[in-house]
Formats: sequence, C-alpha cells, structure tokens
Amino acid sequence: QNHQEIHTRNVLQPHVLIFPIPFQGPVNCALKLAELLCLSGIHVTFLNTDHIHRPLLRHSHVLSRFNRYPNFKFETIPDGLEDENPVTGDRFEEVMAAIDAVTKPLFREMMISGSLSRRSEHPVTMMIPDEVYSFAVEVAVETSIPLFFFATLSPCCLWTSHFNLAALIEAGHVPVKENDLDELVKDVPGMEHILRKRDLAAFCRINDISDPEIQRTLKEAQTLPRAQGLILNTFDDLDSLVLPYIRKLCPNIYTIGPLHALHKAQLTPSESSETTLSNSVWKEDRTCLSWLDKHPPKTVVYISIGSLSTMTVDQMLEIWHGLVNSRKPFLWVRRPGSITGGYDESEVESQLLEVTKEMGCIVDWAPQEDVLAHCAVGGFLTHSGWNSTMESIVQGVPMICWPFYVDQQPNSRFVGEVWKLGIDMKDTCDRLIVEKAVRDIMDGKRDIYTQVTGYWANLAKESISDRGSSSISLARLIDDIRLMSL
Ligand code: UDP
Repeated sequence: QNHQEIHTRNVLQPHVLIFPIPFQGPVNCALKLAELLCLSGIHVTFLNTDHIHRPLLRHSHVLSRFNRYPNFKFETIPDGLEDENPVTGDRFEEVMAAIDAVTKPLFREMMISGSLSRRSEHPVTMMIPDEVYSFAVEVAVETSIPLFFFATLSPCCLWTSHFNLAALIEAGHVPVKENDLDELVKDVPGMEHILRKRDLAAFCRINDISDPEIQRTLKEAQTLPRAQGLILNTFDDLDSLVLPYIRKLCPNIYTIGPLHALHKAQLTPSESSETTLSNSVWKEDRTCLSWLDKHPPKTVVYISIGSLSTMTVDQMLEIWHGLVNSRKPFLWVRRPGSITGGYDESEVESQLLEVTKEMGCIVDWAPQEDVLAHCAVGGFLTHSGWNSTMESIVQGVPMICWPFYVDQQPNSRFVGEVWKLGIDMKDTCDRLIVEKAVRDIMDGKRDIYTQVTGYWANLAKESISDRGSSSISLARLIDDIRLMSL
C-alpha cells in the first residue's frame, strides 16, 4: 500500500502529523497546538526525535494528559544523538546536523512508504513540521500531503533576520561588524527607524556566511512560502508592524498566539487548573510559589534564561550584585549546567545563598507561567526567548531583556522600542546597569510600565476571547485542515 491508496481508502478523517524540533520550547508549543487540534476532534500523530522524547515523558505528566485523547498518538524517529536532552544552545547546530544526516532520510522514507499512515487507523492528511525543517517541503511534494509550517520563533525575527537575510548579505550589512553594531539597518522595510545591526538575529554576527546556521536560515526563508500555510505564535495587534510584510510572502498565515493562553482558554476549567499542564523536560520546583506568597504585590524580580542559554560565572555575579544592590527580593532559576566558566558551583552557590537568603530564592526550574501570574512578581529579567516574552506580555510583567541566541536580539529590541514593555540591556552585563534597570521598572518608572504592560496584556486577552483574532485564526486553521484533508 502506498500513501495514495491509503489516502483514498479513508478520506474523511483529518489526521495531522506534528513534527517539532527537539528542544523544550518548540516541543512545548507543538504539544499545545496538538492538544487544541485533538480537542476539535482531529487525529494527531506527534513525531518526536529520540533525543527529546525520553526525557519529556520521564519528567512530565505529558503522557498521562495525552492518554485521555483517543485521537492522539506519539511516534518517535531516531536522530543519532548519543545523549538525551537537555542540551545547551551552543549545541543547537550539532543537533540540527544530526537531524539532517539521520532523521531527514528516515522521515522521507516514513512518509513516502506510507509506513506512518499504515501504523495508524487513519492516513496522514496534513503535515505540520517546525519551520526549521525545510526538507519537509520536498516530502510534501512527493507525497501530495498538504503542509503548514509552524514557526515557534518570533515574527519580528522571521521578518528582519530570515526573510531579509539574503538582501542584508547582498548589501554587505551581514556579517555584522563589531564597530557597526549601533548603525541603523535601513534596508529592512518597516524597520527603518527601529532596527540597529545589533538587533538582528544573533547569527548575523557570525563572520562566515558559509556557516551552517546562516545557510540553514537562508534555505528556510526560501522554503517557507512554498508551504500552504504558516502558523505563528503571535496575535495580530502585537505584530501589526511586521505581519503585513510576512503576508506578502506567505499569504496564508494563522496567528494563534499567545498560544499558551489560547490553549488554556480552550480547556475546561477543571482541566486548565491542573498543575500537569506543563510540558517541561525538567521537574518544576513549585515551592517557590509559597515563597512568593510571602511577598507583597509587585515586589519580586523573577530571573530566568530559559532552557538553552548559559552564562559565565562573572556574568552571574554582575547580575547578582545588581539585584542585591537594588534591594529587591528575587526568584532566580539556575538550571543545572547553565553557569559556565569552571568554578565550584556548590561553593559559589552556598556563599551567595548565605548573603542572599533573606532576599532570594534560587530554584533549578520553576513553574514559569504560574510564577509570572503570581501577584508578587513585579519584573522579569529574561533572555527574551519568544515563549518567555509572550508569557510575560499576557501577565503584564515588565521585562529587563538580556538576549543570547537567534530571535532573542530582535525580541528584546521590540520589547524595549516597539512595545515599550521593558528595558533592553543587550550586549552589556554590568551590576550598575542591572541595578538601575531593576529600580526603573520596579520603582521609578513603575506607573508608566504598569500602564503599558496592562494595555498589551488586555490586547493579548482580547485576542484569545471568543471573538478575538487568535480564536478566529485557530477556528480557520481547524476548518482548513478539515477541508484540505478531503
Ligand atoms: N520555563 C519554565 N521554567 C523555568 C524556565 C523556563 O517552565 O524555570 C519555560 C518557559 O515558561 C517557556 C520555556 O521554558 O515556556 C522557555 O522558552 P523560551 O522560548 O522563552 O526560551 P528557550 O528556552 O527556547 O530559549
């Protein structure tokens, strides 16, 4: 049986294959999308590479939650990687190279032979891979299965640093030179007065344009418009500056963000109050919520650099001094292995804890959505990952941005300059700057930030209300999946 035969035998059941890249953030988003599709009655196969599948199921309640959906199923595919997630961001390209060498041919074979469809009651009628998987376009052509890409990174990065990358290289703006970092990038439409070279995606600073990350991004930009649709984790009001440009290249866009909030809104009240909504590969330390309970509203700074970034011990100490000098209590996520620089972790931690015990709470991994929703939290020192940014926007928490990789550079610029939701301290790590930023968002400019963060939080909530733009987009996505499965 090839795919076509199976397809014609059973045409009326939409069956979506979701295929995320094997990192915490994208898998988390893809699972939320999967659950939304399951709730609408669509069959979903969730294809994980081995690298993330084992730790995901071991450390989370994902399996028990998805077991309740008869129309949901996990499948796995090898990636040839020896170790399990978590990895750090500097190994991103290593993971992508392994996927290219091992997973890509296996995926093609799986789809062309129809073996995945045969293992399921219903054949696959639609593919939703991560936008990084450019190779899925050829597979879609070969199998005649419709394809929507899912971009879990920010639209501002997609527009500035993916779709415009070829033109920026052509014009000699990329690779960005150290001395030019503050120059405005005038060649990206819509961004003429906003974007400096330092705000382009981090890979634009790589000196060699034959670097795999740059080449992969160029390929992605060429491939995205070849899919029948593009799913984005944003809402129309938030990205009104860049969405019209993206739409010119990819006319069929589904803006279903903030996805975590839309997902929660679509669950029943008892389901959405479950603590097991988390898709974390790390165990969440929920004791920090009772620590937060002891603090008055908007007095605590929350610090996290997400699931991939690392900082040196010197950077950690600058941030720590800045926080202590600001005299604000803080909740700090120190993911194991996230501090580099060869030092005795337990010794430094115990010294810091001794000085900070009155002021700080340090955990390995926090229930971040609940932390940001806690009334005691008044500011978020973040690496500006797109999920963290969206989670902060929904809860109206002002941000101090300290970006590392990929989309975090444009995200932090948009937070500071476009949405005015916080302070961008990119490319600096200095205790005086940290102290001032904390005092600004928590004290000096608190009223202004309260107003602006409240404005965006309301728009975010409107977008996921019954008649909101993201709810309408999700309904259209579901309708289109059904139509294209016929
Ligand atoms: N997160 C969490 N607990 C933590 C730190 C982060 O649950 O202690 C979650 C956070 O809520 C977000 C994700 O991890 O959903 C991080 O994604 P993001 O896109 O912000 O950054 P990345 O980890 O991909 O760099």
